[in-house]
Amino acid sequence: MTIHILPDKLASQIAAGEVVERPSSVVKELVENAIDAGATAINVDIREGGRKSIQVADNGQGLPAAEIEVAFHRHATSKLQTVEDLTAIRTLGFRGEALAAIAAVSQVTLISRAQGETTGTRLVLDGGAKVSREMAGAPQGTVISVENLFYNVPARLKFLKSDNTEKRLIDEFVTRYALAYPHIRFRLAHNGRITFQSTGNGSVLDVLIAIYGPDVARQLLEIGDSRLEIEGDSPISNLQSPISISGFIGTPAVHWSNRGQMVLFVNGRWVKDNQLTFAIIQAYHTLLPTGRYPLAILFLTLPPEEVDVNVHPAKTEVRFRGDKAPFAEVQRVVREALVADAPIRQMGAWQVGSQLEAMTPGWEGSLDQHAFVRPDDISQPEMELEWPPEEIIEPAGGQTAPRPTAARSSQLPVMRVVGQVGAAYIITEGPEGLFLIDQQAAHERVLYEQYHGEWQAGQVAMQPLTVGTAVTLSPSQSNWLNHQLPTLATIGFQVEPFGPQTFMIRSIPQLAADRDAAHLLLSIVTGVERKPPAAADLPLYLIQLVCMAAATRAGQSLSQPQMAALVQQLEQCHDPMTTPHGRPTFIYLSVAQLAREFGRI
Ligand code: ADP
Ligand code: MG
Repeated sequence: MTIHILPDKLASQIAAGEVVERPSSVVKELVENAIDAGATAINVDIREGGRKSIQVADNGQGLPAAEIEVAFHRHATSKLQTVEDLTAIRTLGFRGEALAAIAAVSQVTLISRAQGETTGTRLVLDGGAKVSREMAGAPQGTVISVENLFYNVPARLKFLKSDNTEKRLIDEFVTRYALAYPHIRFRLAHNGRITFQSTGNGSVLDVLIAIYGPDVARQLLEIGDSRLEIEGDSPISNLQSPISISGFIGTPAVHWSNRGQMVLFVNGRWVKDNQLTFAIIQAYHTLLPTGRYPLAILFLTLPPEEVDVNVHPAKTEVRFRGDKAPFAEVQRVVREALVADAPIRQMGAWQVGSQLEAMTPGWEGSLDQHAFVRPDDISQPEMELEWPPEEIIEPAGGQTAPRPTAARSSQLPVMRVVGQVGAAYIITEGPEGLFLIDQQAAHERVLYEQYHGEWQAGQVAMQPLTVGTAVTLSPSQSNWLNHQLPTLATIGFQVEPFGPQTFMIRSIPQLAADRDAAHLLLSIVTGVERKPPAAADLPLYLIQLVCMAAATRAGQSLSQPQMAALVQQLEQCHDPMTTPHGRPTFIYLSVAQLAREFGRI
């Protein structure tokens, strides 16, 4: 084959592929154009998942009659004049590609009347070629209908998913833009049925209620404006870009099995950013059950020149100039909101008959696992809990004496121990309801915070063994252990190789001093074998495993002072609500909920 220049039509179809991948990309481009045109109401009507037709109607400024045809040319835009403009984009569109791309791969009808003009224009295009143009009566604004998408690109057509999947993607897109633009009234209809609408009253929370329903909306924490001040003339603070973050995040009580509910907008543009998503996940670290993801709708605002949006034709990725700043800032605001406003929430297990995926994380299941008493657990040595000397232990049923509150985190109220059920759960009473505490989970959390603190300070308390304990491992286990001896030393295990596949344990962490050393080491080795963590997470994971092995078990009856001590230590934890690996430590039943369950209200 000789080299030749591609015919214009083919070149446009290739270029179109980058902008228009599927029906939802058409919706995205048309809705962005409507927003850029200053619309206050946007209606999206799709048929058959958008495959048959997509119509977007807006009441924005409209296209002047003289510009209607040129708008469909490639690189035709009213939003960019010079190359300098590219460094500070304030509109959603700027590449002048969308209308051309959409028209190249579908049959388009556009009706528009510009502000100040008395009649509108109808333009019909087929595969990008003009079919007809005429005057038409129309209200101010623009209606674009895109029919038979990819009718002339069979290869693309084949990649489309079911109507339902395409519809879901469109739905996701429209609801997200409704969140970012709460002042705009959005309506989405599929095959003539309205599936979503927002009021345009300016309240993000109202849009969230429209999307997720009131049950989830009740579990949201608002993140306020957190503009970083550029202070004085410190060189470091000058490096930081002024960034403001607002939005809503879910409490740890709502979570999903995928990452789809973490939504980020940068300067009003919905973007996908793995790093920032990871920042959110990290902020929830140890607060959510493993494999579950939070809800977070965050709006980042920063000077346009700090963000490069011209990364990809679809404009869903951005680059930040000061790469790290938004990451740390996102993590900080989310974490702060979680810690500051972590009221005791009513836990999912009590939401009888709840339809919400978010509310049914399978806690009931994990609770059951721990509810039965294993015979070998009963013979566990008595756990030792320390409590401060000033502790006043109240007899059951007595009045709760005020306790010094200085060192307490505000997350849990002061509780009074009522008793123990099933040798596994401690019942306590708080000011507004009762708590059912999983003694094992609670103790794991208590141990973790102590141990983790020691480890961070580089001073894990160790219990030397007077006579070393030897353990023999499998070849792969001993290979792993041989490589991890220094890491183990940092968490209190002094272990030496002692012949092929055999190791001698010289010390174990103090907080597990009453456990069998060989058993303890084995539980770590097999824990890592079962579920190997990322290298960077290894020390924390090992700490969690030790805590699991060292915690008091279900099946062990506790004395009143032991329960009181455990409860008090839990109250003082920084993150008392879950175990380090995300199992809840307690279930809360408020007085109001009790009344509801009993049909009193
Ligand atoms: P871009 O949005 O990148 O400028 P598009 O191909 O999406 O490129 O649109 C080309 C031009 O057509 C826009 O710059 C704008 O002037 C005009 N336009 C497109 N859609 C609308 C609309 N809904 N209302 C008013 N003008 C529009
Ligand atoms: Mg556009």
